[in-house]
Amino acid sequence: MQHHLKISIMNILSNRILNMAESETLAMTAKARELKAQGKDVISLSIGEPDFNTPETVKEAAKQAIDDNFTHYPPVPGYPDLRQAVCDKFKRDNNLDFTPEQIVVSTGAKQSIYQLVQCLVNPGDEVIIPTPFWVSYKEIVRVAEGKCVYVKTSIENDFKVTPQQLEAAITPKTKLIMFSSPSNPTGMLYTKEELKGIADVVAKHENLFVMADEIYEHINFVGKHESIAQFPEVKDRVITVNGVAKGFAMTGWRIGFIAAPLVIAKACNKLQGQVTSATCSIAQKATVRAMQMDPATSEDIINMRNIFRQRRDMVYKLLCDIPGLKVRLPQGAFYFFPDVSSYYGKSFNGKKIENSTDMAFYLLNEANVATVMGSAFGDDDCIRLSYATSEELLREALRLIKEALANLK
Ligand code: GLU
Repeated sequence: MQHHLKISIMNILSNRILNMAESETLAMTAKARELKAQGKDVISLSIGEPDFNTPETVKEAAKQAIDDNFTHYPPVPGYPDLRQAVCDKFKRDNNLDFTPEQIVVSTGAKQSIYQLVQCLVNPGDEVIIPTPFWVSYKEIVRVAEGKCVYVKTSIENDFKVTPQQLEAAITPKTKLIMFSSPSNPTGMLYTKEELKGIADVVAKHENLFVMADEIYEHINFVGKHESIAQFPEVKDRVITVNGVAKGFAMTGWRIGFIAAPLVIAKACNKLQGQVTSATCSIAQKATVRAMQMDPATSEDIINMRNIFRQRRDMVYKLLCDIPGLKVRLPQGAFYFFPDVSSYYGKSFNGKKIENSTDMAFYLLNEANVATVMGSAFGDDDCIRLSYATSEELLREALRLIKEALANLK
């Protein structure tokens, strides 16, 4: 029966979708929701989503947009006032100059990245992805028939790629480098000097582009956010991706954007015109207001960051208190990415933990804590914990994890 079902699916669906992996972050979140619906008391540390409400002023702008009848098709790349507000944000926060024609607003940063890769990558082109990486980079590249070239970073170097590693991975076929800073899943940040090192390498290869994912920009505990687009020698080859989901607690509004060289922005605009026509008019108007919020003075942003910092400090202590884990103190975003591999080879009730998937399911089933397996991010030694939940739940989750790990023999 199973066999027949498999054959018929193979006949129906394209190879493209059959070969694509499901998003593990979303899959683990769905699994946790399912168990909760069955009455299990699951604590979800799986999804990366602020547990804060969208700022009131942003919600007001959305309500106003409805009353003002912003309910028709917006221009494909976004309303002109929004694209101008995005340019103003880049100037104010990052000292970067863009014109509205260089901005394309999409339905979440994920769509921005998808379109960008579709527009840049030909089949067989190589895309360098430092490991660990955010789950969807890999599948987005594979759908475009690009070849992912993984460069493994080390926990000792805070999971950051070095210019030497990058240089060694570049071939005449390399088209793009993709990374996030602050990083999902590690929470690490590239310093200005480190970005300059990467920019120097990129500058030497004239057909090479950089996708800089800065969606966690405002969740930074160590200081100023640094963009690789600040270096003039590569600015024309950097596509900066950002949005409102994380910094403004607006995950459900689905707004992301790129700031790109004109030719790339135009291409993404063309693709978007065939895919979604544009993103939601109401969410766009709400985002104009979000863009006007100065992160240096906005109470909403500062308050959220401070709470994340407190939680980070608390979770760090609790994780360090668990024997056998290797833990780094994240500098941004809201994730920990501890190395749990010292537990591999140990068992509970006759079931051996061999890898990060076994570990994530063990913690889900035995500790009732949902995490995400590191393999989804290209590093099977680790698991990802999101601390975007209350201190009370975090404390309980870490207690349960500690207990479950102690039961592995
Ligand atoms: N970016 C978030 C995460 O990594 C949301 C889920 C997703 O799109 O992967 O958990």
